[in-house]
Amino acid sequence: ASPSPADPSRYDVEALRTRLRPHRDGRVDDSIPALAAADPDLCAIALALPDGSVRGSAEAGVRVSVQSAVKPFLFALALLDTDGGALERVGIEPTGESFDAITLETGTGRPPNPMVNAGALLTASLVDGTGPEGRMQRIAAGLAAFAGRELDVDDEVAHDEHLRGDRNHALAHLLRAEGVLDASADDAVAVYARACATLVDAETLAIMGATLAGGGVNPRTGDRVIPARVARDVVSVMATCGMYDGSGRWMRAVGVPAKSSVSGGIVLAARGGLGAAIISPPLDAQGTSVRGHVASELLSEDLGLHAFGG
Ligand code: GLU
Repeated sequence: ASPSPADPSRYDVEALRTRLRPHRDGRVDDSIPALAAADPDLCAIALALPDGSVRGSAEAGVRVSVQSAVKPFLFALALLDTDGGALERVGIEPTGESFDAITLETGTGRPPNPMVNAGALLTASLVDGTGPEGRMQRIAAGLAAFAGRELDVDDEVAHDEHLRGDRNHALAHLLRAEGVLDASADDAVAVYARACATLVDAETLAIMGATLAGGGVNPRTGDRVIPARVARDVVSVMATCGMYDGSGRWMRAVGVPAKSSVSGGIVLAARGGLGAAIISPPLDAQGTSVRGHVASELLSEDLGLHAFGG
């Protein structure tokens, strides 16, 4: 029989970090200079508890651009601002394809789900706000509510991803051609790129995860950020689509809804209102942090977090 789960409020995140040290596989993303310059040895872990306290390892205050770990939050804001209408504009089925696949849903022309780039380009365009600047402001305010504090944006990352995101421009044009995207393709990419360039550390990302896990209430500020039903919808789609073409493998091994990102961050939303985050830049073939995957498996095992028990 497996030992009884550890108490998250006493969990030794530093010991977990030490257990990750031997895992040195994976490659740091090199799509833009700022990501290519990431420290491959950076390894940060944080747990955010339902009482608002955070347990952070060494380096849990080191910031990276949030990248695709922003996608669940963009989906949440789109659902909130459209009163659920976003569910008619974006699918919720896993693709089994990579994050930037040039694929839309057959028949409808909608993005397959909000966790791949096509979907996030759309959800970022559905939040309230006049023009791209208005939507950027709305997203910044929304992310601040999830985090419990204002978050900076790395202007260079935003600029480079806007400029160099050829596949994202292609996807946005395709969404326009299907009549699904109302904003201009360029504006859609600019807003999405800026959201991806938001800076987070592991502690902040863990609190954002805990806000989703806790039914939409930020455990640190006590503020309700989104309705419980929206939080449930978002976490459900993280469970099925959050790790791209690694989602099945992830669910079996870790069993916790999560979202990966190209900067090496992973945000987890576990049952019982527990949030967690790991940041370690080297990635596997599915774009998931190698150490982040190992850490999440160990965390799930130690704390008994797997959705299907055992
Ligand atoms: N900003 C990245 C892109 O759109 C995000 C990809 C990711 O984090 O998986 O290419």
